[in-house]
Order: sequence, then structure tokens, then C-alpha cells
Amino acid sequence: MTSNFSLGLTGGIGSGKTTVANMFGELGAALIDTDLIAHQLTVAGGLAIPAIRTQFGDAAIAADGSMDRAAIRELVFADHGQKQKLEAILHPLIRKETERAALESIGDYRIFVVPLLVESGNWKNRVNRILVVDCDEETQVLRVMSRNNMERAQVEAIMRNQVSRQQRLAAADDVIVNDGDLEKIRAEVLRLHQTYLALAARHE
Ligand code: ADP
Repeated sequence: MTSNFSLGLTGGIGSGKTTVANMFGELGAALIDTDLIAHQLTVAGGLAIPAIRTQFGDAAIAADGSMDRAAIRELVFADHGQKQKLEAILHPLIRKETERAALESIGDYRIFVVPLLVESGNWKNRVNRILVVDCDEETQVLRVMSRNNMERAQVEAIMRNQVSRQQRLAAADDVIVNDGDLEKIRAEVLRLHQTYLALAARHE
């Protein structure tokens, strides 16, 4: 049975959350990726689509039935009220679907991968422990430029909307500094996994 012990894994964009989470997954942790859950709500047939159509009209839905991301981005960028309306649709659904995914997940313990964990206050009360994946900001910028084929300014704009490295580290119980070769990181993950297994055994 999956232990009730749960970990929140976070980090800035490009810090290596997905890379590190997958290493824990290979060792037997159950991964619940909140970004993926949020994304699935707005693909064609997604649970949020009917409410988005009602709230924002047909122009908010693309021809293939998914949320028209460009249209919505423009709408909420210019208008904070519209942004709040979108969040009022998405946030409860993300929460519900995350809880469902957690109940269905199988592994030694659960890892919730939450990019904006420190930014969204209540997550801190929903997990037993917080792991921050950290690296220097220039590394983040270079990784995301190459992964997403983005301009430096675009990446820096996203980073300005996230908490600072210091604020994130202040919320951490554990830190993985993801600035070296992946074998070094893997060894660090294995060490922490042993700690989490021991904590999970106590939570059963
Ligand atoms: P996040 O999920 O935090 O946005 P990712 O895990 O997707 O970050 O990592 C961002 C990019 O950097 C990916 O292309 C990934 O393959 C690469 N990457 C992550 N960690 C390392 C590392 N230690 N060495 C080299 N490349 C890395």
C-alpha cells in the first residue's frame, strides 16, 4: 500500500524538477504531476472546457475543442478580473483531480510535483515535507532557452513571476542542487529516497 507520507517537490522553471522527479519515480515513488493535471483539464474533452466556453464564449475554444491558449493568454494578460475568473474555474478542478490522482497512485510514498508550491500557500499544509530542486539562475535561463526554444527575455519574464531562489530555499526541508552531472544527482536522489522510505514506514 502507498504510505500516507507525501512530499512536495518544487523548483523554478528549468531547475530540473521533472528530471529529478523521474529519478524518484524509477526508485518506486508515486509521482503526481500537477502541471500535467492542469494541462489535461484544457485539452479537447477536458473537464474545464464546458465552463471555459460558458464563461468566455466560443472564441476561447479552438477548432479542435481544446482551450485556445493564445486567445485566453491575451484575455487574462490585459485583465486581472478575467484572470481570476479563469482561476476560479481551474483551481478547484486541479485540486479535485490532484486528489483523485493521489488516491489512484501506487508507490512507496507520494511525490506531488508542484511548480508554484511556494507561491500557492496552502500546498505547504498538504504535504509532509518539501524538496526544492535548486540551481543558479543563469543555468535555469540557458536550459529553458534550449528546451523550449525561447528568447532569454521570455524566460526571464517567467522567472520574475516566480518567487526568488532565496524564498524557495527558505521553504525547503531538503534541497537537491541540480548543477552537476546527472550521476551525481542520481546518488543524491537515492540518499534522499532512503530517508523518505524511513519516514513513509512511520506514517503507515
Ligand atoms: P523543470 O521540470 O524544473 O522545468 P527539467 O527537468 O525539464 O526542469 O529540466 C530542464 C532542462 O534541463 C531539460 O531539458 C533537462 O533535460 C535539462 N537538465 C536538467 N537537469 C540537468 C543536468 N543536471 N544536467 C544537464 N541537463 C539537465
